[in-house]
Amino acid sequence: MKCLFCSLVNKEMPVQVVYEDSHSLAFLDINPRSPKHTLVIPKIHSETILDLPESEREPFWGAVVAVEKLLLESIHPNGFTLGINQWKAAGQEVDHLHMHIIPRFLDDGGGPVQMIVNNPKN
Ligand code: 5GP
Ligand code: ZN
Repeated sequence: MKCLFCSLVNKEMPVQVVYEDSHSLAFLDINPRSPKHTLVIPKIHSETILDLPESEREPFWGAVVAVEKLLLESIHPNGFTLGINQWKAAGQEVDHLHMHIIPRFLDDGGGPVQMIVNNPKN
């Protein structure tokens, strides 16, 4: 089956690009949890960080930093939550590696990322 995020890389579907370079694409999440909730993806198809080629690790991380800087300049958040949902148990719905960059504000009502589960005895 065709990969949704590969389709966005190839601009086969509408996408609101936040940042792009030869290795990475960053775009607004279609269902944002905060203003400018952004997804950063490698252009090469990888499901997780485990199968991302080693040579792509640094460009991927560089794109994450670049996007944070752009969002800081444009909407001046008080913080960021960064997160990768890896595999179904963790909520991964799109099987193309993506880093959520969620701008945070002091009064946004959200919590820290470790609050998403409380199952210490598994
Ligand atoms: P996951 O649970 O896999 O980490 O999250 C996938 C994310 O991709 C969700 O936040 C969802 O809103 C976003 N998403 C799904 N389909 C599309 C799409 O076609 N375009 C964009 N921009 N975001 C999408
Ligand atoms: Zn893909």
